[in-house]
Amino acid sequence: MPLDPGLVGALHVERLGRLDVRAGERLHHALFQTSTIDALLSGSYEGDVSFAELGARGDFGLGTFDALDGEMIGLDGVFYQVKADGRAYEVDEQTKTPFAVVTFFEPREIRQLAAPMDHAAFRAYLDGVVADDAAACHAVRVDGHFSYVKTRSVPRQHKPYPPLVEVVEHQVTFELHDVRGSLVGFRFPDYVGGLNVAGYHFHFITEDRSAGGHLLEFQITRGELRVDHESDLNLELPAGVEEAMPDLAQSKKDELNRIENA
Ligand SMILES: [Zn+2]
Repeated sequence: MPLDPGLVGALHVERLGRLDVRAGERLHHALFQTSTIDALLSGSYEGDVSFAELGARGDFGLGTFDALDGEMIGLDGVFYQVKADGRAYEVDEQTKTPFAVVTFFEPREIRQLAAPMDHAAFRAYLDGVVADDAAACHAVRVDGHFSYVKTRSVPRQHKPYPPLVEVVEHQVTFELHDVRGSLVGFRFPDYVGGLNVAGYHFHFITEDRSAGGHLLEFQITRGELRVDHESDLNLELPAGVEEAMPDLAQSKKDELNRIENA
């Protein structure tokens, strides 16, 4: 099914070649994404974009690494790798990624979070914050104090690469208590299914940048929420990755749901 033309006004999905983004050109309120979630689901873990290149397209975001070696967090222009030991390491510019989404974070909306919220309450609250513009993509950052955080990471994979659903069966999870840190992520409208994770996708990193991962559960005590409304989604698809189907089959959705929320 092609993208609904009515929605294309709200979000432009463009296929970019490597040279389409000129060096030094800074896109505003635009997401840059390498590859697609569908390609990642089926085991395309070969990195093809370096973090030097990624950093030219955004200072904020999430993703993974060549050979699926951990969870990526981009924050304030620095990229971190949370490996399967739960520790965060600064990423070398030459390291490559098979899947990442970044933006230059320019929030238009700032809210103080004064009441404790868990993951579900936070998503419901955010749904309200973006209700006027729910068809757009949103970049979301929260800096605050968390009484509880549960994250996961995945170990580096070896060829032949298994599909993501098998890798996640062996994910390692980490629990943090009474910690300051940042939640980094995105809210994607339903029609991006196939290109990215529809709904919410968050990663977490501690304030001292020592630990984190893909966020599974949390309880925030207080914090500051910032939201950037994105109008464009620029895709770079490596050779061999098909233009993704915006609508996933239900079986694929179930698979993705297990992977992202397990
Ligand atoms: Zn993730």
